[in-house]
Amino acid sequence: MIVMKFGGTSVADAASMSRTISIVESKLSQRPVVVVSACAKVTDTLYEIIELDHQGKKEEALELAAALRKRHEGIVADFNGEKDASLAAIKETIASIFSRMEKLVKDNNGKLMSLADKALLISSGEYLSSNIIAYAMNLKGIKTQWMDARQIVITNNDNLKASPLMDEISKNAKGIVNKAYKNMDAVITQGFIGASVTGEPTLLGRGGSDYSASLIGMAIDADRIEIWTDVDGVRTADPRIVNNTRGIKKLSYEEAAELARMGAKVLHPLTLEPAQMKNIPVYVLNSMNAGGEGTAILNRSCIFDGIKSISYKENIRVITVYSLSMSDASGFMHQVFEIFSKHNVSVDLLSSSEASITTTVEATQDVAGVVADLQKVGTTTVDRDKAQISIVGKNIIGLRGLLSETFNAMIDSKIYMISQGSTFLNLSFVVDRPEMAEILRNLHKTFFEKENGNENTD
Ligand code: ADP
Ligand code: ASP
Ligand code: MG
Repeated sequence: MIVMKFGGTSVADAASMSRTISIVESKLSQRPVVVVSACAKVTDTLYEIIELDHQGKKEEALELAAALRKRHEGIVADFNGEKDASLAAIKETIASIFSRMEKLVKDNNGKLMSLADKALLISSGEYLSSNIIAYAMNLKGIKTQWMDARQIVITNNDNLKASPLMDEISKNAKGIVNKAYKNMDAVITQGFIGASVTGEPTLLGRGGSDYSASLIGMAIDADRIEIWTDVDGVRTADPRIVNNTRGIKKLSYEEAAELARMGAKVLHPLTLEPAQMKNIPVYVLNSMNAGGEGTAILNRSCIFDGIKSISYKENIRVITVYSLSMSDASGFMHQVFEIFSKHNVSVDLLSSSEASITTTVEATQDVAGVVADLQKVGTTTVDRDKAQISIVGKNIIGLRGLLSETFNAMIDSKIYMISQGSTFLNLSFVVDRPEMAEILRNLHKTFFEKENGNENTD
């Protein structure tokens, strides 16, 4: 069996769903378990609905829901299916998902929606897309079984950013998938969503469908996991910012995970972990260019040393705690990190000196509580409007000339912090946010746009 995951742009409308279905059809002999995201931008709108509801703007929330309903009904209509029982069934499914959504918005009588209800509402996007694609596949004559991911992806109780319970997932997945496959050509399920042991709805966090695919792949011992997206594989930089990027042929699990952790949105950062546990190859492919080579993510023994890609985080904060009276360094560190942990704020980069600790955190995180508590430990400053750039690759720290080439490419820029990952996989630094794009382009020129190129890129 293989797992094939299709992201939002690959299932945005009837045309892209049809392309996706043709790709699945070409692999039926490998018994695909298809994992889909919500149609492009739908999850964003669902979060908006919740935000409006939160602000008491129910009418506006319901208007957004009505527009989403129209969009999904329009996709079904575009498939032009016969007016038969299957068309009636998909219409009924869509109607029931939206009546549940309306009820969630209307019935909380001024109270905030519970986290479980929020998770339920947000999961509507994947329920809608997976049902519509299953309908369209059956319409095309591909016998397709729709499967509820909540049976398989069992998680802890953290409704909006749950952690999977690997043992629970592994215990039941094969049996459930094999049963779903009985007399079928394909099985389809939802990315992103799961359930707690007691059956409460949960989500794996934004972009979590990649993670779902890998978890399911691990649990069913898939031969391969394919992540189908809107770019030709993992590239030497984000093509939305840098022109002339190249496709990377091979990456190690560690390199791909590091790139994702350091901001490359092409994969959810936890995706590689389950695949690596079973040594299952992961391929990143383009659903708009199905014949392309894409990127293979494999065991590190197949990967040579060197720079593979440059990633970034566009909006970060740099927090520095300074304490001259810090006599016991280990105690100081402990105090500082306990504060981050207490406020559930995750730290990306770290550098320290005798009297200070500097960290970076993503600007989306609320750091007010952290800063208030850190002030009690030492003088604390927060630098805003900064960006983080990371050069990623296996054993790059051993590369001759890495530092001089890197810093030559940004000679006129102010660097606020430098950090070398302890795994020799990344060299990261912090710069002013308005300068980020230009620095990325300069670094890309330095490392990837030389004439003779590199045999690991296309
Ligand atoms: P999907 O909806 O298929 O999950 P995403 O939008 O989450 O797709 O991820 C694909 C996007 O990731 C690309 O469109 C691209 O802009 C961005 N991206 C960032 N860094 C990279 C990179 N190094 N290689 C390829 N894509 C990247
Ligand atoms: N639909 C979810 C999101 O937009 C999950 C995903 O697409 O991976 O975050
Ligand atoms: Mg994604």
